[in-house]
Amino acid sequence: MTQKNTGKVWFVGAGPGDPELLTVKGQGLIARAGAILFAGSLVSETAMRWAGEGCEIQDSKGMDLAAITDWLIEKARRNDIVVRLQTGDPGLYGALIEMVQPLDAEGIAVGVVPGVSSAMAAAAAGVESLTLPEVTQTVILTRVEGRTPMPGGESLQALARHHCTLCIFLSITLLKKVQGELLAAGWPADAPILVVHKASWPGEEKIIHGTIGDIREKCQAEKINSQAMIIASPTIGARQWPQLKKSRLYDQAFSHRFRKAKKTPEKKQETSL
Ligand code: SAH
Repeated sequence: MTQKNTGKVWFVGAGPGDPELLTVKGQGLIARAGAILFAGSLVSETAMRWAGEGCEIQDSKGMDLAAITDWLIEKARRNDIVVRLQTGDPGLYGALIEMVQPLDAEGIAVGVVPGVSSAMAAAAAGVESLTLPEVTQTVILTRVEGRTPMPGGESLQALARHHCTLCIFLSITLLKKVQGELLAAGWPADAPILVVHKASWPGEEKIIHGTIGDIREKCQAEKINSQAMIIASPTIGARQWPQLKKSRLYDQAFSHRFRKAKKTPEKKQETSL
């Protein structure tokens, strides 16, 4: 690919909403950018807060793919740094490759800066761990089928049979389907579910604790029908569990690269890694 004499387009993960959850690298690029195209209201505050004076800032709401890539190409011809600011991490449900290909075709250099995904921000909001020793060591990031068809073998029911942590994006209006698929995969109706609306947004975040059976009614009562992360996991609520298998990471009797085990542990703990 021959690179023309243009600037570079950076796809920057803005994080889940709180402008302080932008990475230091993303902040530096925004501050130096000549033009920023941001993806909707979720990240406007982040763009405004960190952009330099004279930077051209545009909302991509209402632009289709061709309009977005035309804008990025035009700005890259006039600026050294152009930022496409996306919610969470650009590699998750962000149409990243669709935007990169036309830039590649024009010979424009591209970079990606990862961001804090809303899946992580939602777990943090609820003080939940997505993995726990001997409970689950696996996290699946997925969605239920809406207008976008799911590839074969990726129905929520099929994925839920692993009984691991499921972070379900783009599905808050499809909670009935989520409930049905989890139940069909053998999850009990009283299995805990966490829904976080606008995770990390100062003053706007809502955390809903429920079960598969009642989460839909609880979300309806709170009028939550957008910008929400659904986490179904056997780890939800572990903060209140009286019995917890401890991770070996901090176990006195367990050596690893950075720490030697004590020879006679004061108290033997049940542990696993
Ligand atoms: N790239 C983004 C996801 C974009 S898809 C990321 O990594 O987070 C949009 C979906 O992400 C929404 O439907 C919702 O499920 C989730 N989402 C994005 N921001 C959110 C937030 N602040 N709180 C809760 N869910 C959010």
